[in-house]
Amino acid sequence: MQHPVYARIDGPVILIGFGSIGRGTLPLIERHFEFDRDRLVVIEPNPALHDELRAKVPNLVTEALTEANYRDILGRLIEPGKGFVVNLSVDTSSLDLMRFCRENGVLYIDTVVEPWAGYYFGTEDNAERTNYALRQTMRDEKAANPGGSTAVSCCGANPGMVSWLVKEGLLTLAADLGDDVPAPADRAGWASLMQSLGVKGVHIAERDTQVRLAPRAPGHFVNTWSVEGFIAEGFQPAELGWGTAETWMPENAQSFDSGCRAAIWLEQPGASTRVKTWCPTPGPQFGFLVTHNEAVSIADYYTVGRPEAPDFRPTCHYAYHPCDDAVLSLHEMFGSNQIQEVHHILEADEIVDGIDELGVLLFGHAKNALWYGSRLSNAEAKTLAPDQNATGLQVTSAVLAGMVWALENPQSGIVEADEMDHARCLAVQRPYLGPVEAHYTDWTPLTDRQTQFPEDLDEDNPWAFRNVLERL
Ligand code: NAD
Repeated sequence: MQHPVYARIDGPVILIGFGSIGRGTLPLIERHFEFDRDRLVVIEPNPALHDELRAKVPNLVTEALTEANYRDILGRLIEPGKGFVVNLSVDTSSLDLMRFCRENGVLYIDTVVEPWAGYYFGTEDNAERTNYALRQTMRDEKAANPGGSTAVSCCGANPGMVSWLVKEGLLTLAADLGDDVPAPADRAGWASLMQSLGVKGVHIAERDTQVRLAPRAPGHFVNTWSVEGFIAEGFQPAELGWGTAETWMPENAQSFDSGCRAAIWLEQPGASTRVKTWCPTPGPQFGFLVTHNEAVSIADYYTVGRPEAPDFRPTCHYAYHPCDDAVLSLHEMFGSNQIQEVHHILEADEIVDGIDELGVLLFGHAKNALWYGSRLSNAEAKTLAPDQNATGLQVTSAVLAGMVWALENPQSGIVEADEMDHARCLAVQRPYLGPVEAHYTDWTPLTDRQTQFPEDLDEDNPWAFRNVLERL
């Protein structure tokens, strides 16, 4: 198959982290960019990967990046004004790496605002452990240093691609409501389009059905992407973009009095917080309200009016049903208060069935709810690109799209996926997403609600967070 070569990268290509996402991104970089292969560098501290990497890439750095050494190590590798740093590791500060790259005019991309090692478990102050706080550091950096060389923040599947799907979903909804509008040209235009369509909120609604034959053994945490990353975010407080349609807040909710004000957080871990949501394959389902950057960024981006007293803002949060083995792993972990010692990421070849169905559920409008997203099977993913399962390919193809956009827009400063050209990015990514589909449903969080146990519901507002959050 012929693959388009989108751009040339002059200077070194530096990949930080060769875990499930780094491993899957490398073949896409090799396929879609022209660059000097002798200048490809991988930074990966895990000794178990070193033999394989020495055979695969010309330059390997085996030291872990730390706050103390990153300027030295990267300083030796980069060439000012050239090249690309692709940060796909855990335990490295996205903010520090991004700042260093921009000081040197080197393009940069990551998939999460990651802190240095120890941050997630190193403080008792839950407000500090929120993605709101992490994201705000990056937004403050952007405000203090506008423009300059492009650094793409949080450009994986989610955060990342889902922000592009929100835009495509809004245009689909507008057309289906009989108003075939052109794509708005700026943030204010997108926010007022969402408001005028009557959208009250957005779930990042995901169902991962990928399975292998062997049952999960006790004491094993099994997932379809970083176990470490999932545990870290799962223990962060549940967090959501807080919309203007909400009339009730959980008692343990906390808000912020500085920054964009778009989100609240709950005094409970996201990966044990259940919410009612909907995806095409299962229909209604529980998802976990795991905190994610996009819950804040989307709520912020679509705000109409002043941040502290908006005229409109959507509620926005993740509602994640990971693969069944990961659900059992979480159940065991929270039940025992022990993080499992054995971590395993399901590989494309051991998965015997299943898809990762990842989309955005735009709800509360005249057609009730629209799910718009990718329904990529592992079987199809294997035919599209090597070294990754369906979950991985949804992420790595977004990294590819973000890199293409950065190379085409190299002086755009710090950007999030919401601020990029969604049509261009999705055009690059689409060949890797399997079926991308729109599904309407008349289901709401009140549908078929059991009545044996009393619940404090908002019968007048089916999509209210009061009805979405499981409190029984
Ligand atoms: P992984 O755990 O499989 O791999 C992470 C790699 O980073 C490991 O190989 C590890 O050895 C390496 N690493 C650890 N500390 C390092 C350091 N100090 N310096 C350099 N390398 C270091 O994780 P993954 O599944 O590949 O995910 C990578 C990152 O991408 C995580 O931060 C994860 O949260 C993020 N992610 C984002 C999305 C998204 O859609 N936005 C999806 C999946 C993963």
